[in-house]
This record gives sequence, C-alpha cells and structure tokens, in this order.
Amino acid sequence: MASTNPVAEAPNIWAVAQAQFDHAAEKLDLDDGMRRVLRVPQRELTVNFPVTLDSGTVQVFTGYRVQHNVSRGPAKGGIRYHQDVTLDEVRALAMWMTWKCACVNIPYGGGKGGVIVDPKKLSLREVEGLTRRFTTEISPLIGPDRDIPAPDVNTNAQTMAWIMDTYSMHHGYTIAGVVTGKPISVGGSLGRNEATARGAVFTLMQWARVTGSALKGARVAIQGFGNAGSIAASLLAAEGSTIVAVSDSQGGIHRAKGLDPAKVGAWKREHGTVVGYPGSDEVTNQEILEVDCEILVPAALENQITQSNAPKVRARVVAEAANGPTTPEADAILHDRGVYVIPDILCNAGGVTVSYFEWVQDMQSFFWTEDRINESLKGIMDRAFESVHVMSTRHEVDMRTAAYMVAVARVAEATTLRGLYP
Ligand code: NAD
Repeated sequence: MASTNPVAEAPNIWAVAQAQFDHAAEKLDLDDGMRRVLRVPQRELTVNFPVTLDSGTVQVFTGYRVQHNVSRGPAKGGIRYHQDVTLDEVRALAMWMTWKCACVNIPYGGGKGGVIVDPKKLSLREVEGLTRRFTTEISPLIGPDRDIPAPDVNTNAQTMAWIMDTYSMHHGYTIAGVVTGKPISVGGSLGRNEATARGAVFTLMQWARVTGSALKGARVAIQGFGNAGSIAASLLAAEGSTIVAVSDSQGGIHRAKGLDPAKVGAWKREHGTVVGYPGSDEVTNQEILEVDCEILVPAALENQITQSNAPKVRARVVAEAANGPTTPEADAILHDRGVYVIPDILCNAGGVTVSYFEWVQDMQSFFWTEDRINESLKGIMDRAFESVHVMSTRHEVDMRTAAYMVAVARVAEATTLRGLYP
C-alpha cells in the first residue's frame, strides 16, 4: 500500500540523509520522540514566481527554502540555481547544514534553498531579476536573525549582493548580515575565499597529529582544481607536501616529482584546464583517485569514490573537501581497509565557519584582520576535530559516524533544553 507520508516516499538523496541520521541516532540511543523531530525539516516554503525575460515573455520559476532545524540558532545554508533542483534535494542539503554547523559548534541551524533553473541559459539581467523576485518571495523566512543564505552551485558573491540589496530595499536601510559570501566591498569577509581549503588543511594537520604522520613530504592527489581544490594545493605545498596530481572537469595531470600549484593555476587560467601542463602525464578523473599518494583530496563532485574504486584507493587519508564524494558502500570499504576518512561535515566546514565570522562582523559593523580570521578558524576546526576524534575513539566508530554523533547529540541537547513549545 502506498504510504501517505511524503517523507517516507522521498527519493534517494533525502532517503540517504535520513538513513545517516537514523544511524547516528541509533548509536546515540536517542529517544523515539527526538528522532521523529530531527528527521524532518521544520519549515518548507515552495514559491512559484514570475520573471520577465529579455524577450518580453513572462516565465514562471519554482524555488524552495527549507529550514531543517533552528534550535541552536538561525538557519544557515546556500542557495543553488540548477535545472535538477528538487524539494527533496533541498531537504537533504538543509539537514546536512544542521549537522555541519553543529559539528563545528557554530551557533546556527541548517537551511538550504534552490531554484529550478539553468542560469547559463539566462542573461545576467534575467538572473538578477530572478534573484530579486526569489528573494522577495522567500523574505518571510530569511533575515539576519532567522535564516542567512550563502552561495552554492551556480550562485556567487554577485548573487549575494543582489539578495542583500533587495532585502535592504524592502526595509529601507542596509542589512548586510542577511547573506554571507558577499563581495568585500559590501560587507564580505577577508579569508572567506580561502576558508574551505584552509579548514580542510587544518583537519589534515590534526590527522597527522593523531596518527603520527606528517604533511611535510606527503604526496597529495586532488580531484577538482576550483576554489577548494586549487587553494588546498597551494596551502599543502606551503606545508611541504608534494602535489603529485590534480584534475578538473576536463581531466587530470600527474607528475611524481611534484607540481607547482601556482604555475598550474596560471596554466589553467590561460588554457581553461590543467590538462596539457608541461612535464606532466595525463590521468583521468577516475585514475586520479587511485594515484599512489598519502593524501587524497576529493574537491569536485559527489559520489566519486564508489564501491568499484574504493578497493583501489592507495591514499592513507581521504580529506573530503567536496560534499558527499564518498558513497556509503565505499565508506565501509575504506574503513575496512584502514583508510582514514575526514568526513565532509568536518573537513569542509571552514567555509561556513568563516561565513559565520562574516555575519558576526556585519552585525557589529566591525571588521577583523585576515590573521584574526585565520587564527579563529584554526581554533574552531581544531576543537571540532578533537571532539570527533574523541567520539570516534570512545565509541569505536569511524570518523563519519563520530562526526554525525557529535552533531546530532548537540542538536538533540539544545532541543531538549529548550523543551517542547507550547
Ligand atoms: P568550483 O566550481 O570552484 O570547483 C570545482 C572544480 O571541480 C573545478 O575545477 C571543476 O573543473 C572540477 N570538476 C567539475 N566536474 C568534475 C569532474 N567530473 N571531475 C573532476 N573535477 C571536476 O567549486 P568549489 O567551490 O571548489 O566546490 C568543490 C566542492 O567543495 C563541492 O562539492 C562543494 O560543495 C564543496 N564545498 C565548497 C565550499 C566552498 O566554500 N567553496 C564549501 C563547502 C563545500
């Protein structure tokens, strides 16, 4: 018989997110009432809104804003523009934001938004019109004290500037703290651009500490040479690691003696890809995951390490700069093979952490130096790693399960302490 519960019928990504939660809840022995509260989003808004295209035609777009949980603070999470956005995807991403913020212990809940659109098919003016109207439609939910969006797939600092401006126009004065990931000139933060990679490198330093390894001399392969991947390459090279392979959507390059990330970056800017970099051999995006190295950094897409290639991963540690790069089946294989995984909700949380700093700076209209930002980021990432490591050791579970347990326990505690209203 068909279920009448829309959540029970949810397709894959949302079902995966709920299954991950169920696993952590089981390990924590969470009571049934708390499980029922935390495994569904608190609020979901669907909006259908018109935009006048350059041709004069009126097109109606569908978008969502979901707040999974706000027990620990305002909802926080990006807005993506993509033709494949679904409500279930936004639900899953919102739930993951709750756990990510709780895992690094910043005072936010989890939210996410999306519009079903391929923005590459729109002009810049049309994207601006869509952004401003979408902002208006979701403005009952967003605000610096209630829900703070940020960039995600196909949205960027310019999109955030438009959202901030639209929201501010409604109120008649500038409210910079309504979004993060803004350009520096309108309340953005120093260090935000590098934050995800820097945070990931801080977690790798902690991995080195607890396993008696070293970043100096370690060989590194990085899938994805965008914001997270290319900056991670530079930061790791500065620590004395050897970057033996990097890749982008067009393919990868390998050089056992090491690649200079700055020179590879310059080559990519000139040629649009890392492929063809002088003195390197070509590798595919699958082969890069199996390169002989100590550190593997997936920094591109989800579902890259699967049950078919997990047995061939040669790295000793996988640092998940990307969201969801490892499937649950691959996770089990890596664990059995003794490969250390620094899970995404910990490894790439540097981005949301410096977003938090941006919001704090906006609210105080007092801007920090880059040194203060990087120092504060290190403190938060180091403490988060330690809590997950301790949980992992105490309960004899892998780091991903431990990260979920740390996060879910914090959200459950806040929910219990606040009590059930009314
Ligand atoms: P980006 O768009 O700057 O870079 C993505 C890179 O991946 C590009 O080099 C692209 O060419 C490459 N790529 C695309 N398809 C590929 C494929 N099939 N194989 C190999 N490489 C491919 O994006 P980003 O901001 O660096 O994000 C990368 C990952 O990190 C995403 O999973 C994202 O969710 C995650 N992440 C980013 C941030 C952040 O602050 N930027 C924060 C948290 C998580």
